[in-house]
Amino acid sequence: RKIAQLSDKVVDSNPYSRLMALKKMGVCPKYEDIRLKTVIVVGVGGVGSVASEMLVRCGVGKLLIFDYDKVELANMNRLFYTPDQCGMTKVAAARKSLSFINPDVQIEDYNYNITTVENFEHFVSRITGGGIDGGPVDLVLSCVDNFQARIAINQACNEVGQTWFESGVSEDAVSGHIQLLKPGELACFECAPPLIVASGVDEKTLKREGVCAASLPTTMGIVAGFLVQNALKYMLDFGQVSNYLGYIALKDHFPAMTLRPNPECSSAWCRKQQAAFQAKLAATPAPTAKA
Ligand code: ATP
Ligand code: ZN
Repeated sequence: RKIAQLSDKVVDSNPYSRLMALKKMGVCPKYEDIRLKTVIVVGVGGVGSVASEMLVRCGVGKLLIFDYDKVELANMNRLFYTPDQCGMTKVAAARKSLSFINPDVQIEDYNYNITTVENFEHFVSRITGGGIDGGPVDLVLSCVDNFQARIAINQACNEVGQTWFESGVSEDAVSGHIQLLKPGELACFECAPPLIVASGVDEKTLKREGVCAASLPTTMGIVAGFLVQNALKYMLDFGQVSNYLGYIALKDHFPAMTLRPNPECSSAWCRKQQAAFQAKLAATPAPTAKA
């Protein structure tokens, strides 16, 4: 009887119908807009590759991926890449699997270091002109594993006023976080780096030379899930988007908070964006109370 009940359920073979059910059920009234959205993923390693796969399976319109590294056997304790892909650039391997999973998604891939002067300029031009309509992208997801790359993304997004999410997993593999950064409105990466906020430890001293970092597919998969869930909520305007969400695996503790910008931030672009945001707030008439 149970089995009969289960098989009575309407199951359409088209994967989009399971996604569009989110609209019919009122969870996400504008789900079909996903096909108009463009996302940049910087770093297609343990978190970024899984986040990219989730976006592609959700039916995102366009994805731009950036990474300078190659697939190695040492990456096999993570999800997504397979041993036969060793030696390929991560972006080429990812592009191949992602377009195999969903050929409808437009993909651009860049195998370079975003922090060099020349590449940085090109990276900024893809933020402002890489959108599916030729305009700015909808969101940038940072899935890199080092301070310099995060600073570069922060600088690019502060300059052009691009909203982005930062993500990270600790070197001991048992904690992680995601953070939403809206230039001028919320703290930028230089206002207060998230790892300092979360643990009181400076990330620069956390990365020890010659020490093999631990990594777990579980923690990375959870952080990728948090990241894309909040990216969907942000882009498709449903639910509440987390500003900062942490994950402490050993205690299953999920600290959440909101980080406001630091008026004395070392980034001049951040201070400029803060002034612009305040001016915009001041120009918006306050809602009048009903008599
Ligand atoms: P591990 O360091 O533990 O061996 P990893 O280098 O694959 O692993 P991940 O945390 O899995 O690191 O992923 C981070 C990804 O970000 C990597 O694929 C890395 O190549 C990429 N990345 C880091 N910095 C840059 C950068 N400046 N430009 C482009 N890609 C970057
Ligand atoms: Zn700042």
